[in-house]
Amino acid sequence: MSEKRSYSFEFFPTKTEAGHEKLMGVARQLATLNPEFFSCTYGAGGSTRDRTLNTVLQLEHEVKIPAAPHLSCVGDSKAELRALLEQYQQAGIQRIVALRGDLPSGMGMSYGELRYASDLVEFIRQETGDHFRLEVAAYPEMHPQARDFESDLNNFVRKVKAGADSAITQYFFNADSYFHFVERVQKIGVDIPLIPGIMPITNYSKLARFSDACGADIPRWIRKQLEAYGDDVRSIQAFGEEVITRMCEQLLAGGAPGLHFYTLNQAEASTAIWNNLQLPR
Ligand code: FAD
Repeated sequence: MSEKRSYSFEFFPTKTEAGHEKLMGVARQLATLNPEFFSCTYGAGGSTRDRTLNTVLQLEHEVKIPAAPHLSCVGDSKAELRALLEQYQQAGIQRIVALRGDLPSGMGMSYGELRYASDLVEFIRQETGDHFRLEVAAYPEMHPQARDFESDLNNFVRKVKAGADSAITQYFFNADSYFHFVERVQKIGVDIPLIPGIMPITNYSKLARFSDACGADIPRWIRKQLEAYGDDVRSIQAFGEEVITRMCEQLLAGGAPGLHFYTLNQAEASTAIWNNLQLPR
């Protein structure tokens, strides 16, 4: 792999001032690793619109690492999306993670004017041309609502044809699922970088709940070992670090064009994996 690999860290916008200060401390710590970019999630329907905007601007201008807002289209109108794109463009933001998003259940929200991420990618290209580098989501283990792997793959290709430059995967704990997905995408003739999304393991119950919802498979041997540790947080973290480091080694050795860490606003676990892998600073 001769091209420069892309390493990035993802955060979520916090609800409190104290949480925000802590997040900025974490970002400053991770900035010392000199990642390609930071990204910040967006609540579907615009529920974090201002917080995502403010967090991204602070990461970009104060922490001085290029920052990419996530932007989802469900529940937002074109006018709202257009206004946000203008703000990002004026603030010098150059990358966006473009998503459909998930409608919060029980809130009576409607889909909005754009139904799928491919519609959002097309809309951003129409509105802003090539200003933004666009990342989209990819699902090596299939999106949980997809009819089957084939149709999900075709829907992924729609996003690329609509103008995505690169993709970040949903997290997974099985490198083969990633390699299989890459092979299938390349066979179709799509050659954008597919960056594996990496979820450090630090807490079993939260991880199990989250993985159920987003369709990420926790292999039985990992599940059983984590269950056996019970409340022993240190053992969970040590085991998690080892498992994820080993998987990242496999991914990089197999040609993955980088890694995107879901930090959950914590620096330690991602930094430990980074150091184990001896990634460049
Ligand atoms: P899409 O690509 O639109 O796909 C959604 C489903 O629709 C899939 O099953 C697909 O097969 C199907 N589909 C797509 N196009 C068509 C079509 N034309 N016809 C029929 N079916 C179609 N969520 C948030 O709310 N905020 C975030 O910040 C956020 N960040 C994320 C970051 C990453 C890297 C990832 C992997 C996910 C993130 N998510 C986020 C979650 C994401 O919003 C959900 O997984 C959502 O359910 C799907 O989003 P998508 O962009 O992949 O949708």
